[in-house]
Amino acid sequence: MERLQKILAQAGIASRREAEKIILAGRVTVDGEVIDSLGYKTELEGHTILVDGNPIERKEALVYYMLNKPKGYISTVKDDRGRKTVIDLFPEVKERIFPIGRLDGNTEGLLLFTNDGSLMNGLLHPKYEVYKTYVALVEGIPTDKEILMLKNGIELSDGMTAPAGVRILFRDIPNNRTKLEIMIHEGRNRQVRRMCEAVGHPVNSLKRTEFAGLNLSGLKRGMHRPLTEEEIRSLY
Ligand code: URA
Repeated sequence: MERLQKILAQAGIASRREAEKIILAGRVTVDGEVIDSLGYKTELEGHTILVDGNPIERKEALVYYMLNKPKGYISTVKDDRGRKTVIDLFPEVKERIFPIGRLDGNTEGLLLFTNDGSLMNGLLHPKYEVYKTYVALVEGIPTDKEILMLKNGIELSDGMTAPAGVRILFRDIPNNRTKLEIMIHEGRNRQVRRMCEAVGHPVNSLKRTEFAGLNLSGLKRGMHRPLTEEEIRSLY
């Protein structure tokens, strides 16, 4: 519970001093009742507070984070089935953040979070061609022809993939597996896994290392950090 003038000030209605004047002038109602004295305490949650008949809403500061997502967390805010979600990795963050896009439960790596809805469309809409880089450990040793197929585009159940950047980072011949770097700008469901599978090299592990020009740069698995001003600017 907070004093009404503080709630009004936090919602960006006016300074606390100004908010006191607004209350004393009888311009504020809480759940339909005019409150015109200064001792009144309430909270925004679960109450309707009107100033001159207009509802006030909590004004949260806009926040932006990068997470190095570990495996075993799903990329939603809440899960009906009680599975661990990426939001569980932000216990201290009070703002209502959400992930910008998704990584599969068993994919790790870079995932951005914000409460800034205006950023979503620009980063997820296909027409903006935001690049994402993945490192995939695949079964077998892809041939030059298979790498070329991945690069040029390959038929998946939901259509041809756009040209992609693909390079071999490491051929692990004794263990018959290969580390690939794959850069795509589309964001279809399980796209990298499906692309590799389509050329006969299923993915054993997958990590996103870059998104929209940002990289993990030493951020440890399971950890998050706020984006810098410069990083935020680069996303707009
Ligand atoms: N491609 C996938 O297959 N999985 C992801 O999580 C992201 C891209």
